[in-house]
Amino acid sequence: MNILPTVMPDEFAPGYLGRIHILNLLGKPNQTLKALIDYFALQPSRIRRIEALAFAAKTSTQLFVQNHTLIPANSAISENLGGVCHGHPKYGALFSHSWNHLQKSGVYFCPQCVDEQRGCLGFSYWQRLNQLRGVSWCSKHFCPLLGCPENSLTIATPNVDLATNAAPEIEPEEPYWPVVKRYSEIMHGFLRRGFRAGRSDVARTIRAVAARQAIYMGTNNGCDLLSDIAVSQLPAWWLKELFPSIHTKQLGVPFLPFDNTLLNDHAQPHAFALAMALLYRSSKKALVDMP
Ligand SMILES: [Zn+2]
Repeated sequence: MNILPTVMPDEFAPGYLGRIHILNLLGKPNQTLKALIDYFALQPSRIRRIEALAFAAKTSTQLFVQNHTLIPANSAISENLGGVCHGHPKYGALFSHSWNHLQKSGVYFCPQCVDEQRGCLGFSYWQRLNQLRGVSWCSKHFCPLLGCPENSLTIATPNVDLATNAAPEIEPEEPYWPVVKRYSEIMHGFLRRGFRAGRSDVARTIRAVAARQAIYMGTNNGCDLLSDIAVSQLPAWWLKELFPSIHTKQLGVPFLPFDNTLLNDHAQPHAFALAMALLYRSSKKALVDMP
């Protein structure tokens, strides 16, 4: 192992591994990972892939998990581990296989961010935020993200020659835009929070906001379902990326993967992020309110 590049802010862990791979020319990507594990003489464990990358990046496993994987978003809201730090070594089993949960299929970049990275660093890298489901536009430049096949991570750093698809252009006058923008900002906020929030605490907070907006929460019949509001306001393709089974949703009937956020039952963190994006007018306020 000759070259261990400096990890960049918000660099996506598999992309960092890809840069190590590209710079060291060690056969296949999994051979690079094995070489890293050998280089640092790591004992067998479920988390040594991440440990190896953390060592390469000269940081702790916990900070590497916090700053370079999707785990902080994936574990932002937790059933019974509220208050636990992301990447805490005690919970290694929980993050050993989930560093890329909530990742879109393929891998994404913003062409303008990439130009800026090249101008200032001399190279570009894969950013973590752009890989999250439902994040389809750059949060800085508001341009559509370009999508590439997943193996691009280990072939090259982001560049337009790799791109095979793109999100549609933004239509800022459309009512969906403020909602998807808030959703991105809230997911970004999840990535930056250092610990899990308890699910019932989050539910209590957003139910109080929903109560002021006549939204259905289990007993108040005649009120609007949050899922009906989402379907009426948001592009179908975008919603499908968050909830692959959204096509089964019927008007007036709760769609549990999403409405459970207000029914005080299990729902994924990205469902909570969308609920907050619909219920709050400001993503900052939504994040400040989070327990
Ligand atoms: Zn950008």
